[in-house]
Amino acid sequence: MDTPATHFQQPAYSEAAQKALDRTPALFINNQWVVASGATIPVEDPSTGRIISQIADATDAEVDRAVEAARTAFDDGRWSDLPPMRRERILHRLADLLEAHADEFAELEAIDNGKPRDMAAKGDVPGSIATIRYAAGWASKLAGEMIEPAAMPRGAVHAYVRREPVGVAVLIVPWNFPLAMAVQKVAPALAAGCTIVLKPAEQTSLTALRLGDLIAEAGFPAGAVNIITGDGATAGARLVSHPGVDKVAFTGSTEVGKIINRAATDSMKRVTLELGGKSPVIVLPDVNLDEMARGAAAAIFRNSGQVCVAGSRLYAHRSVFDQLIEGLSEEASTQWRPRPSLEEGALMGPLVSREQMDRVMGYVEAGQKAGATVAVGGDTPTSNGGYYVNPTVLVDVNPEMSVVREEIFGPVVVAQRFDELDEVVKAANDTSFGLGASVWTKDLSLMHKLAGRIKSGTVWGNCHSMLDVALPFGGYKQSGIGREKGREGVEIFTELKTVYIKL
Ligand code: ADP
Repeated sequence: MDTPATHFQQPAYSEAAQKALDRTPALFINNQWVVASGATIPVEDPSTGRIISQIADATDAEVDRAVEAARTAFDDGRWSDLPPMRRERILHRLADLLEAHADEFAELEAIDNGKPRDMAAKGDVPGSIATIRYAAGWASKLAGEMIEPAAMPRGAVHAYVRREPVGVAVLIVPWNFPLAMAVQKVAPALAAGCTIVLKPAEQTSLTALRLGDLIAEAGFPAGAVNIITGDGATAGARLVSHPGVDKVAFTGSTEVGKIINRAATDSMKRVTLELGGKSPVIVLPDVNLDEMARGAAAAIFRNSGQVCVAGSRLYAHRSVFDQLIEGLSEEASTQWRPRPSLEEGALMGPLVSREQMDRVMGYVEAGQKAGATVAVGGDTPTSNGGYYVNPTVLVDVNPEMSVVREEIFGPVVVAQRFDELDEVVKAANDTSFGLGASVWTKDLSLMHKLAGRIKSGTVWGNCHSMLDVALPFGGYKQSGIGREKGREGVEIFTELKTVYIKL
């Protein structure tokens, strides 16, 4: 038998990835790499727990420099006044460059975040390319409107509404989909004509930094894009309250989202927030249980459950509950066993950090203490120092438990039975979150009825976590403010201006 350490051996990094890891810690300001003047933050490979690189922890002065660069670039119009089709072309060039370096980005993402390389190669990176291309088209499609005044005599006033870029946008992104979350804000903000300061999460800044190289190469004017790495509570907080900033777009935990919302609204910055979730998966008795077990497993275990829309509350009809839990447990203990991120065929990697692993295990313990039973998982495999958690299914839970109420952000699902539709709708909506929900049934009429009754920004039928660049995405309740993706995702980076001209 393999020793545990060999069993969890992370394959060697490629030369391109190693080069990215060996770079001098620096910040991307005005299309230049500015070598960090302050402290650095170690970068870990969560598959091994080893420190593999260092990134800059931006100082106050460096944060201010980045905002000034974006401010100057916005105010002199070097980006926003370009013909929209020029902006569109430059964004497409960025997409071309990302396409050309797709393998390297997928590997870096896997090394940095712990997600399987295959998943990054099939999901995160092509998704990011699609996001840039989709947003690029909006640069030349965004438009205002001519509206006839309603309370004035016809022809007395010519009025119209312009749509203008909001200004300097600060984009703060989390560590679960580092590149995809960054690009989901970067591309529409630039398409709208904003200049930006991007701050990736301190745990996973590698792909954002590499993106800086491609931005410089793509032909963006200096200052249009600035990338600051650093601690959230210092560099992030300074960006959010900076007087030179007009808009903050944030994705992350509800807890930090509330702090950011308070700080940003103090100076009336425009704010959009994509926050946490506790998304229900509702299973009706007519489903194919084999497919359902696979679907429920993917809904929670993909990306080690570190997904804001993860299907973390499973509600199955009493008549199918036991069989479904059996199938789901089988999936958990075979397909979804955690593996090092670069290992061929891995479906699930480690969690992003020791802190996150401890947090998730803390929830599992708290659940058990409160009376929950572990159907499968609930432990960490013996590894080589990586942050692995076995996929976990908890049963015998009740709505008061923290594992049912709070976002765990790990590969842990809580499963409950229901008898009546009204009962499951009430249970599904009994949460402070409202990001996603899925309904699994062959009865389409029932599916549409339930879609209308569930309070969440997205409802899926017979699938979970499906997302498309053209369709708006965001949360009800404490899952967020505003929508990303689609037209709305570009319009959140604009202001409306109404012009009246007396004729
Ligand atoms: P998690 O708690 O799961 O690590 P967070 O929501 O804290 O995720 O982090 C998401 C992003 O928000 C990261 O880029 C982080 O640096 C940043 N951040 C954390 N705290 C603050 C803050 N007070 N102000 C601004 N940004 C912050």
